[in-house]
Amino acid sequence: MRPTHNTDRSELKGASCPKLLVTIDTEPDDEWACKPTLTTENVRELPRLQEIFDRHGVRPTYFVSYAVARDLEATEILAAIRSEGKCEIGSHLHPWNTPPYFKISGEARQSHAYLYRYPEEVQRGKFETLHGQLAKAFGFEPRSHRAGRYGLDGYGVRLLKEFGYSVDSSVPPMINWCHGQAADEAGPDFRRAPLGSYELSDDDPSTPGHGGVIEVPVSVGYTRAMPRCMVNWLKVQRPENLAVRALGKLCGIRKRWFRPFPHVPLEEARLAGQWLLNRGTGFLNMMFHSSELIPNTQYSKTEAEVDAFLGVIEKMIIVAGSLGCRNGATLAEFGQEHKRTRYGMALHQVDQ
Ligand SMILES: [Zn+2]
Repeated sequence: MRPTHNTDRSELKGASCPKLLVTIDTEPDDEWACKPTLTTENVRELPRLQEIFDRHGVRPTYFVSYAVARDLEATEILAAIRSEGKCEIGSHLHPWNTPPYFKISGEARQSHAYLYRYPEEVQRGKFETLHGQLAKAFGFEPRSHRAGRYGLDGYGVRLLKEFGYSVDSSVPPMINWCHGQAADEAGPDFRRAPLGSYELSDDDPSTPGHGGVIEVPVSVGYTRAMPRCMVNWLKVQRPENLAVRALGKLCGIRKRWFRPFPHVPLEEARLAGQWLLNRGTGFLNMMFHSSELIPNTQYSKTEAEVDAFLGVIEKMIIVAGSLGCRNGATLAEFGQEHKRTRYGMALHQVDQ
């Protein structure tokens, strides 16, 4: 049933516009390099990034990890941005370095294990630790979440609900991290997840249901329109499939994240964004990591590359505007809008 709300005309007009959402995993420096000590120098670069957002009226959502939430200087930087109403602060669970610690037997990659590899009571403990640290550091409880390495399963959804979260953004549709992985290393498979926002089920995050938490997927699209049957076929293929590669080469059909990847032509990101909006998603959710803001990481090697990366972020904001997206909504605010406008709307109205 559609809920009743006192809504004025301008709010209704705003609700009908697609939104640009910017969501940033705010985490230690180059964590994937497995350095002996975690550092969070990249967070000192957030004010520089925020200047870009301020120029365009973007209000990002910073998903903060435990290591960052324990760093007083880092939390002061984030709290200062939030105190001006310029951002939302959510949670980002890196289970491998959030207490309680637990050694997983048989786990091939202990260093960055998915949350669902741990026993349920350990998963809950890690979630509670992160949530509690964020509440202590910032003085409020976060309402938005993204799982580390996108490792969300049904139990994770139930934890989100238990801790009072309203919105999640752990699902990149059409992406599968199972291929080529050992059984105990296999990542989530989101090939069949909806492209638009939906209420999560509490057994499979790729399936809409009534788990009480709204999923706002990360934006992944194709660079060309094509028949739905072809999309459905492409969704489940491996990227190395010869036919998939031929389609990319001969027809320009490529799967692209709407994300600032300096090696991906901006035009391809624009086409992927257009493709998603044409299918009725009503938003573009551009994600990246705070750790991309400093050099000597897997993402950027030099200061010049960091500068280029910041330039791409600004260009993508402008591209989203050219596609009709309005700036200014945080993730939780978009989740509220979903509840106002999409409940009672048949899922098929978003062409999945
Ligand atoms: Zn992360």
